[in-house]
Order: sequence, then structure tokens, then C-alpha cells
Amino acid sequence: MTTTLPGGFDLAERHGVRNYAPLPVVLSHGDGAWVSDVDGKRYLDALAGYSALNFGHRHPALVEAAHRQLDTLTLTARAFHNDRLPAFQRDLAELTATEAVLPMNTGAEAVESAIKVARAWGYRVRGIRPGAARILVAGGNFHGRTTTVVSFSDDPVARDDFGPFTPGFDRVPYGDAAALEAALTGSARADETVAVLLEPVQGEAGVIVPPDGYLRTVRQLTARHDVLLICDEIQSGLGRAGATLCTDLAGVRADLYTLGKALGGGILPVSAVVGRRDVLGVLRPGEHGSTFGGNPLAAAVGSAVCALLGTGQYQAAARDLGAYLGERLRALPGLTAVRGAGLWFGCDVDPRLGTARDVCVELARRGVLAKETHGVTVRLSPPLVITREELDVLVATFGEVLRDL
Ligand code: PLP
Repeated sequence: MTTTLPGGFDLAERHGVRNYAPLPVVLSHGDGAWVSDVDGKRYLDALAGYSALNFGHRHPALVEAAHRQLDTLTLTARAFHNDRLPAFQRDLAELTATEAVLPMNTGAEAVESAIKVARAWGYRVRGIRPGAARILVAGGNFHGRTTTVVSFSDDPVARDDFGPFTPGFDRVPYGDAAALEAALTGSARADETVAVLLEPVQGEAGVIVPPDGYLRTVRQLTARHDVLLICDEIQSGLGRAGATLCTDLAGVRADLYTLGKALGGGILPVSAVVGRRDVLGVLRPGEHGSTFGGNPLAAAVGSAVCALLGTGQYQAAARDLGAYLGERLRALPGLTAVRGAGLWFGCDVDPRLGTARDVCVELARRGVLAKETHGVTVRLSPPLVITREELDVLVATFGEVLRDL
């Protein structure tokens, strides 16, 4: 594939750390749904930074907002007010129909923040015994890579050798409302449960869509037991699944949401916890924060992202293009399952043909970028600005790769 890397591939080896195994492609330019490598070869980006690039590469409105802000003020730290943050908080609260916005940077940091808020709410509002707050999470979850977050992962690759782990989490099978109900009622620690944390669709697990009615039942159960529902919409939210929030599709409102990825428009890391004021309001000055969280540059780009999503155009595109792509993917021989939500698909490759990694390497050689997850699944999450013609290129190339494996 790419034949050259500035400084040579051995430079990356010499000073890099091997926590990724990238495909042998060296990208140097991006525009809309396309990227090109240092040799000038073009690729259709069917991953879109795991949904961080929902609006494509260098969307003009986002680049303009960033440029304008770069020329005025970029960082103050939260020791002072800045003139961009309150507007961003208003824009995001309006977009998501929530009351309060806690700005952070990365997704994992937003999840960590939601966990701290839920625990503090448990002690200060519910009166739970100090140190006893329990949070229920789902099997197969992915919420990031920090120590606390991998503490409740069941993926050995994410966890092994990184302990000791943070206590206070119990896992229940994803999509199984009866198991959740049992954990909320039958367990010795049921009364100490402060929150249920889950992804409305599990991305990293392979785009796993829960059974119909699951989210509604989870909402009813958590409300009945005075337990917070925290939905991690870092990957599923902001248009990807065909709605501003994936829970909108199920007619469900969580108490807290974690958002990230596309919130930074593919330009810089921007994340947030959004939700009920009486819950986020438990934080007191000095208890939580981040040097970069809520910085004016992030706020300016975040507001521009909210303006794009405020049109509803990207959510509609995810629904329409997702229906179009899903139908074509399901017709491809060589796939044993295709799961999807909006413009977001997990395609399981027949193991007799090869691994999902084999497919992704071959797709890249033929000019389409996608990423495997868990051995058998090719994850597709193209930018929401992609066209039907470009999706045809994606499907044709995918079909040829599966045929030639
Ligand atoms: N939560 C979900 C659902 C994610 O998909 C991810 C990233 O893939 C994260 C959290 C972590 O986000 P970040 O990589 O920005 O820390």
C-alpha cells in the first residue's frame, strides 16, 4: 500500500509505542469522505475516526469556526471565565434537550466524570453508605481505556495486567432486562446501586443492537429503583444512529449522557456529560475539572457542531443512507451477519473465508478504509456526508474482496 513514510517506517518503530497495529497506510490529507496517502493514493474513509468524523474531514463550517477562534483566544483554563463556553453549554443543552453540560476532552474522561457524579449523587442525595456506591454495567461494554473504565470491562485484551482494578461495578448481560431487574432487586447490594451505565448500541463490541423494548424497560426499572440511567453515546450519538441521541429512537431519556468523538468535529477532542441539573449539580467547586475542558477553541468548534446537528440534516442522512447501505450489505455473499443502526454497521465475515483483519487489509489495498473488531467483524461508520454513489463504491469493493479472499 503506502510505500513511503516521512522519515521511514522504522522511525515510527524507533520512538513509537506499539499500542496500535495500524493498517499500512500513511494518510496525509482528508476532504469530506475521502483521504489520501503520502503517495497521493485516494481512499474512501468508511471508518470516520470511529464516528469522530461524522461530518467528514475538514467540514468547511467547522474549519472556519476553528480558524476564527484560533485568531482570538484558545485557552484560559477554568480559573477564569471565557466568552465561548456558556454559549456552547447552551447550544449543547438545547440540542440534546438536557439541562446541564459538564465539558471535558476525551470520551473516557467523560465516562469517568459521569461515574464520579453518579457516586457523589448516591452519597449526597440518596444517602448511600460512604464508599458503597454500586454501578451496574453491561457485558461486552466499551467505555474507554482508563484504569477505572477497564476495571469493569470483560475484554481480557483491555484488562489483563492493568489491575488492581477500581471496585464498585457489577456486570449484567447486555440486552437482558430480566438480568438487570434481578441485579436491581435480588442482590445483597441492590439498595446501594446508584446507576446503570450502558451504550444504547454497543459499538466496539461489533455494533450490537439490543432487543426492541430493552432500553424502555431499563428506563422503567431504573426509575422505579431511583437509580440513574447513564447512556454512553460517545459513539452512537450526534447523528450516527439516525438521531441526535440514539435513545431518541427508543423514546427514552437517560438522566446523564456521555458525548464525545463527533462533538469535536474531527478537529480536536471535545467531550461532555450532559443531563439533569439536580444530578450534575452535586459537584462543588474544586471537586472535578480539567485544564483543557471547556476551552474556548473546543467550545467554538462544539457550538459549530451543534449548529450542524440543529438542522436535522445529518440525522436524516444517517437514516436514509443507512437504509440504503444496509440493504446492499445484507445482499453480499460471504457475510454471516449484518447488524446496523443508522449509518453504522457490524458485518461478520464468514470465518471460512478469512478474518475481518484480512478483509480490512484488502479493502485498504483497494482504496476503502474500515476497521475490524473482535476478529470476525468489519465495522463500517462512514461520514454522514457520504453520497449514495460513494456507498456503491464501498459495497462493490467489499463484495470484490469477499469474493477474492
Ligand atoms: N465510550 C464509547 C462508547 C466509545 O466508543 C469510546 C471510544 O471508542 C469511548 C467511550 C472512549 O472515548 P475516547 O477514546 O475518546 O476516550
